[in-house]
Amino acid sequence: MRLHKSLLLTLAVAAAAVLVAAAFAFGTHRARSDLLDQGQRQLQLMAPDLQFVLERFETLPFVLGQQPDLTAALAHPDDPAIIARLNRTLQTIQRQARVGALYLMDTRGLTLGASNWDQPLGFVGQNFSYRPYFREAIRGRAGRFYGIGTSTGEPGYFIAQPVFRDGSAGGPITGVIAVKISLAEFEAHWRNSEEAILLADRHGVVFLSNRPEWKYRSLGKLDDATRTTLAQTQQYRGKDVTPLDGPVGAHVTLPVGRLGWQLMLFPNEARVLRAGAAWAVGAALLLACAAVSAWALHQRRRRFEERVASRAALRQAELELEHRIAERTEQLSETNRHLEQKYAKLQETSQLLRTTQNELVQAGKLAMLGQMAAGVTHELNQPLAAIRAFADNARTFLQRGQVEQAANNLTHIGDASARMGAIIAQLKGFARKGETVDSVDLERSVRASSFLLESEFRRRDAVLDIEAAAPLVVTGDAVRIEQVLINLLRNALDAVEGAPVRRVSVRLLREGDDAVVRIADTGAGIPADVAPHLFEPFFTTKPSGQGLGLGLAISSSIVQAMNGRLTAHNRPEGGAQFDVRLPLPGTAQHLGDTI
Ligand code: ADP
Repeated sequence: MRLHKSLLLTLAVAAAAVLVAAAFAFGTHRARSDLLDQGQRQLQLMAPDLQFVLERFETLPFVLGQQPDLTAALAHPDDPAIIARLNRTLQTIQRQARVGALYLMDTRGLTLGASNWDQPLGFVGQNFSYRPYFREAIRGRAGRFYGIGTSTGEPGYFIAQPVFRDGSAGGPITGVIAVKISLAEFEAHWRNSEEAILLADRHGVVFLSNRPEWKYRSLGKLDDATRTTLAQTQQYRGKDVTPLDGPVGAHVTLPVGRLGWQLMLFPNEARVLRAGAAWAVGAALLLACAAVSAWALHQRRRRFEERVASRAALRQAELELEHRIAERTEQLSETNRHLEQKYAKLQETSQLLRTTQNELVQAGKLAMLGQMAAGVTHELNQPLAAIRAFADNARTFLQRGQVEQAANNLTHIGDASARMGAIIAQLKGFARKGETVDSVDLERSVRASSFLLESEFRRRDAVLDIEAAAPLVVTGDAVRIEQVLINLLRNALDAVEGAPVRRVSVRLLREGDDAVVRIADTGAGIPADVAPHLFEPFFTTKPSGQGLGLGLAISSSIVQAMNGRLTAHNRPEGGAQFDVRLPLPGTAQHLGDTI
């Protein structure tokens, strides 16, 4: 894509360059042809002027040939008076006619008299027999020639006519009269022209021009014959005629005069280039404008397309979003339905669990009650037997009149019955189906539970020690908590039976937001194969009649119902440790939050 773009850009730049170049070429071509047209017109105006200058004195030598002073001089060339007259006449006519010079030659070409006789470079005494105009005139024809003067060094147009002895054509030729016309004035007119203007002879040698460096140079190569002629006639005396450097270039030309001359005009190349440059700049500006507009247009289109695209993308995104929302809504309502179904099922299950749990708790209590029946009977029997003995003895003491001893016995009886009352009160609380939620002082619960098992511990020669660091009050059912503790204490007591050290310790402590009752024993610990099933209902390792395997299952349920946890593990120093963990009030969870 990028490559494609840069290629396109390169092509565009190349095309623009070609266009600018074409505009330049066209501009120069047009300017050149315009200037050539103009030049052609200019030449057509200039040529008659030049023609006029050349033709104006065409008849002058002929007329002079009739002059008696001339014929006299030719007849008596050695007469100084006649020659002096001739000179004066020529000078007067030269001044009147405003020509360059007038001079008379004899048949050998020797100048007898001249209008410039009194000047240092005068023609008198000079021989012009080598000049073509002399040669023509001596043969009886008009001679015309352009060349640089051999004595003066000044160029001029020479017209010569033969002079006849009796003054009219037809007789013997006694001499030649010639007039020299300067073209310098004509040349001066061109100086202001911006175009190069020149006059070239029939050989192509430039002899008049407003470009000095072109003068006396040939437009083309000169052949040897021409070179010889030029040398013989001394036409451009003292000038080494060499071809112009480089090609001549576009020009217009017009033939002028009788000598095969060409008047030429060369359009000013700088003007041509200026025109070309103007066209090129114009084209470049036009192209730049076009490029800028194209770019602006492109930009606009792109923005528009972008807007359209972004709108479409937005719409697409919107549609997708709507679609996804719809999908998600569908999914969510599906999930919701599932959840509702699950929730209903869970509620059913939880209801079932609750019932089962309650039933289990109740069953556990009953089982424990049965288990405890023997112990309780024993516990009650003892004070009962003591009461009977004390009562019997009291009667005897009264009969003997020993009132004080009798009163003592009655006190003992009171004590014993109070103890029995306490036992019964505990059993009463234990038997009822308690659901009361209240603040429970754990230390009191621990003490109440251990009180119930005190005689049992004593009987089995086991030590129970209780350690309570700080008062811990939880929210729950005191009876149930005691039920749990009795269960754990009883298990611990069972575990230490037959162990070398028989000690069960109860520790009350606080861990974070929990109150913990830690019951540790010095028994054999929980066997590895037992641990996974510890809290399963009806799992027991005890002989039948001694354990139902419900104790830990019920205890765990009770603790969980109070948002607590019952955990068990073996202690490194030996023996098992059970932790009853209950949340302290004011913490996040409350009774009954969980199912
Ligand atoms: P039961 O006491 O009727 O067997 P439990 O659920 O109270 O039912 O206890 C289950 C089993 O867990 C016991 O049979 C015993 O193997 C084991 N167990 C309970 N407490 C301890 C303990 N403190 N040390 C060792 N094992 C114990």
